[in-house]
Amino acid sequence: MAKCYRSELVGAFGCPIDENPTGVMEEAAFREMSLDYRYLTVKVNPGDLKAAIEGVKAFQMKGINLTIPHKVEVLRYLDELSPAASIIGAVNTVINREGKLYGENTDGKGFLQSLEDEGISPLGKRITVIGAGGAARAVAVECALAGAEKVIIINRDEVRGKELVDLLKSRTKAQTQFIPFIKGMDIPAETDILVNATSIGLYPDCDKKPEINYDTITSKMTAADVVFNDPNTRFLAEAGKRGAKAINGLGMLVNQGALNFELWTGVKPPVDVMVRTLKEEFDL
Ligand code: NDP
Repeated sequence: MAKCYRSELVGAFGCPIDENPTGVMEEAAFREMSLDYRYLTVKVNPGDLKAAIEGVKAFQMKGINLTIPHKVEVLRYLDELSPAASIIGAVNTVINREGKLYGENTDGKGFLQSLEDEGISPLGKRITVIGAGGAARAVAVECALAGAEKVIIINRDEVRGKELVDLLKSRTKAQTQFIPFIKGMDIPAETDILVNATSIGLYPDCDKKPEINYDTITSKMTAADVVFNDPNTRFLAEAGKRGAKAINGLGMLVNQGALNFELWTGVKPPVDVMVRTLKEEFDL
């Protein structure tokens, strides 16, 4: 039988993209499962996304990840959206189904899986999310869809924060509330799970943390961070000092990558290999 010299292609489009480690993790998983796939990390400037998506079709790529600044704009080039992606209004993963492009958002699902991996369910819980950007929207919507009793949004920009609360009110069954972000503010005492879904603490500003009153975090709470670079954030360290269970952003990153792997290949991902590869990448 003739040998096949063509690899299946997936990848990521973003700008900036140079520091994105997803390709290392996905390629390790492809090798582990003996899949002839390549993950291309591609810089796509704002304004070039339409041409890049046409490229996905022309190259018959199996799919693509989208990151800053393309997660919202990509919606106009897709044929179909998952229910969650349509509520969140952003897509981080595209699957090419025989020329038809399907948009999914696996950020929030990856976050939920990282909670589940630690034995924590959002069902019936009160979840406080700091932030209202792309990651916060995905986390808040998926927690609400997964049965959280209440989702509280704390954000600096009030318009953005209230917009997310309105979205949760109109598209999910969870109770919801907006609280403006004020320096030194208390965390609502009813909180079961507190999530830092802002970019505060992200490399190179690893010494920064959301300026909240950390003494209002209790040992009954779980604290989760979406920031994964560096995963040992000051936010988690402060919450940990108050006895809260701490969950870092690597789990969310690995799990959304694992979900994407399966969506593209139809094969169960070797999650252990993906975790190990990322840890090696971050010298953990
Ligand atoms: P966005 O730019 O969409 O949102 C940033 C959010 O952070 C906004 O709510 C913004 O508030 C808030 N924020 C930023 N700086 C400050 C500050 N100094 N004080 C108060 N609030 C602040 O970014 P994303 O949501 O796309 O990304 C957020 C983080 O999530 C990044 O670190 C990213 O790496 C991480 N992420 C992690 C993933 C994972 O798999 N672990 C997946 C996706 C993202 P405001 O609205 O007031 O500006």
